[in-house]
Amino acid sequence: MDTILVVNAGSSSVKFQIFSIEGEGRLRRQIKGQIDGIGSRPRLRASGVRGEPLAHRAYPIELVSDVPTAMGIAGGWLRDELGMSPMAVGHRVVHGGPDYDRPVLIDHGVVARLERLVALAPIHQPHNLAPVRSLLANFPTLPQVACFDTAFHRTRDAVSDLYAIPHQLYAEGVRRYGFHGLSYEYIAKTLPHVAPEIAKGRVIVAHLGSGASMCALKGGRSIESTMGFTALDGLPMGTRPGQIDPGVVLYLISEKGMSPAKVQDFLYRDCGLKGLSGVSNDMRELEASEDPKAKLAIDYFVYRVGLDAGMLAAALQGLDAFVFTAGIGENSTRIRARIVDQLRWLGVTLSADENSRNAQLISRSDSRIPVYIIPTDEELMIAKHTLSLLLERPSPNARHNNVS
Ligand code: ADP
Repeated sequence: MDTILVVNAGSSSVKFQIFSIEGEGRLRRQIKGQIDGIGSRPRLRASGVRGEPLAHRAYPIELVSDVPTAMGIAGGWLRDELGMSPMAVGHRVVHGGPDYDRPVLIDHGVVARLERLVALAPIHQPHNLAPVRSLLANFPTLPQVACFDTAFHRTRDAVSDLYAIPHQLYAEGVRRYGFHGLSYEYIAKTLPHVAPEIAKGRVIVAHLGSGASMCALKGGRSIESTMGFTALDGLPMGTRPGQIDPGVVLYLISEKGMSPAKVQDFLYRDCGLKGLSGVSNDMRELEASEDPKAKLAIDYFVYRVGLDAGMLAAALQGLDAFVFTAGIGENSTRIRARIVDQLRWLGVTLSADENSRNAQLISRSDSRIPVYIIPTDEELMIAKHTLSLLLERPSPNARHNNVS
């Protein structure tokens, strides 16, 4: 079976999926797995096509101390126990910077360019690149593809990429990039099958997960989003604050004596729903909590989604549909209901029944704007990109023929 391995590596976990390549370039998910607890309580868990468990095993901490070793264990398990040797590997890489407006085949030069972006995505990029480097060293002929969360937004008008700072900084790459692009690309490709006419129009997609952002799509293209230079901006997230006056950062440095490293850690790990509630970064736990601060954190989350939806509707000069996706967007009946209530001024009305059964269309038939739930699939997007770059690649024979 010809397969593609998709890798999404974080600081303490490596998520992976195997897709088989079927006739006419169609892809079929075969395995979903992850090694989590890296450096604490490492575990490999994997399941098959119908969710049947394939592996659930623990490892001693010293055996899985970092992401590359975890990748090695997952690769060894796939190869030795399932007899799978992927033809190519597609990686989620959060930041593609100004250079990459599409996925790219990885070589040492690409890795070097992506390493320069570590400061722009400090909790994601180093971990995304770690398995890339180890695979490049151990399997130098295995094709690897980097798929970026920023690439989908690169077609936006120049004005939406700007900050009002001297142009030299823009030239250096200080721009509003936008993230979650693989998720938005998947939604943009799926929407024509769900609502063909609407897909041609003006749509806000709310990707509400641990990381959260929204994107304004016009005719399936990103024209604006809530995130900027880094994945800190925009909506409040599990542990990130979202939009914050830079004066607060100056205050932390000058008045609280925090070093840049401390501020970075604070902004990426201690803010957002976690910081505001003091209870949890997890929306399920906040919804279950009786603590008034948990309620306040949810109130703020809902309020900011509504506020930023207004901004994106202005960028779109109107609105034809609103789409929920990702962990909170796909699963939380209550948060969706509250956000839709926040959008009432746009003429949106919710069907409580459809909402409570997580239907695809959850607005009422008299709603001026339809509201959808579309589960995202970033891994499928990565597998598709990887396959198409694999097919575009000149074969070693073709290259040889050209030379001779
Ligand atoms: P990521 O991929 O960024 O880690 P997810 O898209 O998996 O994040 O979303 C995780 C978030 O979704 C968490 O805040 C989690 O609490 C929330 N979530 C998942 N299921 C539910 C649910 N049934 N109700 C409320 N929130 C949920």
